[in-house]
Parts: sequence; structure tokens; C-alpha cells
Amino acid sequence: MELEPVIGLEIHVQIETKTKMFCSCPVEFGAEPNTNVCPVCLGLPGSLPVINKRAVELAIRAALALNCEINHRSIFARKNYFYPDLPKGYQISQYEEPLAVRGWVDVGGKRVRIRRLHLEEDAGKNIHEGSKTYVDLNRAGTPLMEIVTEPDITSPQMAREFLEKLRNIMRYAGVSRADMEKGQLRCDINLSLKPRGSEVLGTRVEIKNVNSFRFVQKAIEAEIERQTRILLSGGSVIQETRTFDPSTGLTHTMRTKEEAEDYRYFPDPDLLPLVVSKEWIESIKARMPELPEERLKRFIQTYALDDYSASVLTDNKELGDFFEKSLRFYAEDPKLTANWILNDLLGSLSEEGKDIESSPILPKHLAGLIRLIKEGVLSSKLAKEVLKEMVRTGKEPDRIVEEKGLKQVSDESVIRSMVEEVLREHPDEVKRYRSGEERLFGFLVGQVMKKAKGKANPQMVNKVLKDIL
Ligand code: ADP
Ligand code: MG
Ligand code: ZN
Repeated sequence: MELEPVIGLEIHVQIETKTKMFCSCPVEFGAEPNTNVCPVCLGLPGSLPVINKRAVELAIRAALALNCEINHRSIFARKNYFYPDLPKGYQISQYEEPLAVRGWVDVGGKRVRIRRLHLEEDAGKNIHEGSKTYVDLNRAGTPLMEIVTEPDITSPQMAREFLEKLRNIMRYAGVSRADMEKGQLRCDINLSLKPRGSEVLGTRVEIKNVNSFRFVQKAIEAEIERQTRILLSGGSVIQETRTFDPSTGLTHTMRTKEEAEDYRYFPDPDLLPLVVSKEWIESIKARMPELPEERLKRFIQTYALDDYSASVLTDNKELGDFFEKSLRFYAEDPKLTANWILNDLLGSLSEEGKDIESSPILPKHLAGLIRLIKEGVLSSKLAKEVLKEMVRTGKEPDRIVEEKGLKQVSDESVIRSMVEEVLREHPDEVKRYRSGEERLFGFLVGQVMKKAKGKANPQMVNKVLKDIL
């Protein structure tokens, strides 16, 4: 029996607002514990929540970017459970009537449907130190979106690509940085196996809170292996919640179905239904930032980039921004600029343990380098050297060229005299060339370049040499 995986993801994304979901406490990472709190987010009796309009606006933006339908009326509900980091004894979330439903994202030509997108608040944090546990409630009440997919994902690789694409969309839409390392994007995985081609879904296991793209892929691979082993040996998978341990690469039972919580959801009586007018949605649509797929099309059309370069440049928003900022300073040859970013800048950066976000080179300086190449001041060999030096020192290209005396010689009379000298020094080769040994042309070019210490403009050397010969 051949088995195939069925995967659905539940993703939490922190919405980037200045203040919390239901109070005006600041959202701030790394503040002194329990300083950004108030009666509302502490759940003190008599306090009343007020919906953060900006959080709703950004969630609508996210929902539109994910091709969702927005519900004009949605309901906040209480999800009841006890935990020390949840002082109210319930989390405010949305249950039966979420903010948005029925969206989709295409990944590698396949469609992943979004079942729902709803608003909720984050809990606080328990900090374990030795035998003690501390509670920090600064995070309590931070605005979150929960995004739930249909079980449309069919491989570990596809799950990872979906998540990376989701992160990009969130960044482009200006909703969230969605950094997994910072917990701004968190992912639960639901996974089952079924016989290939079967319509009936198998029993699923949920893997909680996997915190990097690589671990998502690894956790899915490990869980597919585990379930395959069980099913092929005639056993059955039990529905449970598991965790992934990156140090062993395995998943472990956290709780089984019998221990599953019953949250006793009910509408929060402190909050009125969230009503979103058509006009508001239209105005959010009208002010929507450019999304990755639109940018991809624009890069191909406007700058005549090939599909691959355009997709690498747009997959990472910062990289695409860097490219376009460079063009603001020098737009003669966008393709050349793109090639230098993709083929050389990224490599030089990674050699120094940096990436585009921590690049010591400004777009303006890269533009300066492209100009020097385009105007024939630097050969591409010398330009590579200059670029490496730029990455190492953060200096401007002109300054490096000046300091290192790297200027390419493009003065025809200087090149002509070097060529003449070389011809005088190699009368034998010149004779043989003239009698038909054409490959000696390359030898003579090499001699001129040697004389010029590699700094002669190669096109000009070729031209002058040909003229004289
Ligand atoms: P719950 O309410 O317990 O979270 P849902 O039915 O809402 O469960 O599904 C949660 C997630 O699990 C969704 O992403 C969904 O696509 C996925 N899912 C549901 N059934 C299966 C299954 N049999 N195999 C894999 N994923 C599934
Ligand atoms: Mg669930
Ligand atoms: Zn507060």
C-alpha cells in the first residue's frame, strides 16, 4: 500500500501594532517584565476591553492578501482554560464567526485553501529558571491572527514553501515582520496519511508550536516516517497532540484525545459584534501595498528580468527593495544590476557572514559600482575585487578604485603604445599569426594585458590589436 501525507497548518501571526488588542498598553519586545500591563490585560474585575481598530485593519489587509472573503460581522468569543500566563482564565478569540474565510495561496502551482483567519490575543509568558517559574504578562493581549488552512498540503517541502510564502505576504502587506525566530510567526502542524488516491482522510496528529522553517520540514518528515511505520505494520495512528524535539529529530506525545481540552467557547459579553463596513474594506483595498506576485510581474515587465532572477529578487522583500533603490541611483542597465546583486553581492555578503538586511553596502554604492562597470572604468574582474572590498570595509566604490589604483585603462593612445611594444617584442608570433595561426591572437592579447597589469580595457585591446595586425 502506498501512503500519501495530508497536511493542514494552523499559523499564528503577530500583528504589528503599537498597542495591544484590547487595551492601550504598548507592545514591546524585551521590556522589563510586567511593566506593560494594565487592568484590562491583567483581567482585573470591572475592566472592559476595547477593540484595537488598527489591528482589525491590518488583519483585513492580511485577509485580502490571502484572497479571503471578509465577514461583515464577526464575534469575539472566550476560550476558557487555566494557565498561569492567562490571568483572566480565558483568551479572547474568535470561534464560530471569524473575521475572514475561504482564501487561498498558490504554492508551486498547487492551491492551498485558507479555511479561516481570525483575531485573538496572545497569552503571557512563563519563564522557567531551575525549580522556579516566573510569569511575565507583557505579552498578554498582544494582537494575533490565527490562519487555518484546509488539509491541502502534500509534502514537507510544500509546507515549508507555503510558510515562507505566507511570511513574504505578511511582510509585503505591512502586517507583520513574521519572523519565526522572534515568535512573530508560529506554526502547528496537522498531519495524517492515507492510501494514495483515497478520498477518505486518516486519523491526524497535531504537532504544536514548531519554531523554524527547517524544523517544520523536519518535524513533518519525522512524523510521516512514524505514521508510515505504524500503518504498514497493521497498527493505527491515535489522534493526539505531539511536540517536535529538534535535538533528536523526533516527535513525542504531549496529550492524547482523552485529555484534550474543552474550551467551552461562548461569545464575550464585554464585546459587541465586530462590524466591518463595505466602505472600510474598499478603502483598505485601495491602500493595499504591492504584493509579491504583483511585484514579480512588474519586475519581469519593467526591467526585462528573466523569471528566475525576478522571483529570487521578490521572494525576499528586502532584496527587491535593495534592487529598486539601487536603480534610483543608476538605472542604465537593470539586468546588470540584478545580476550583480544575485551573482556577486549575495555571495560576498555570505562570505562575511552577512545578508542583505545587514549589508554594509548601500544601494547607492552598488549603483556606483554598476556605473563604473557600465562606463568601462572597471572590468568585471576588477569590479568583483572592488565589491569584496566594499563588503569588507563599507567604503564607496570610487574611493576603493582611487586608493587601490584599480582604474581600467581605456585611453586608446596608451593602449596603442602598449600593443605596439608587445608586437615589437614578439616578431615571431606576429609572423606566424599573419601566416594563418589565428590562435596566437589570444596570446598577444594576454601579453598586452600582462603589460597593463590586467587593467587595460579588453574590448579596446582587441580592437587596437586587430587594427594594427
Ligand atoms: P481543530 O478544531 O481541532 O483545530 P480542525 O478540523 O479545525 O480541528 O482542523 C485543524 C487543522 O487540521 C486544519 O488546518 C485542517 O486542515 C487540518 N486537518 C483536519 N483534518 C485533517 C486530517 N485528517 N489530516 C491532516 N490535517 C487535517
Ligand atoms: Mg487546532
Ligand atoms: Zn493592558
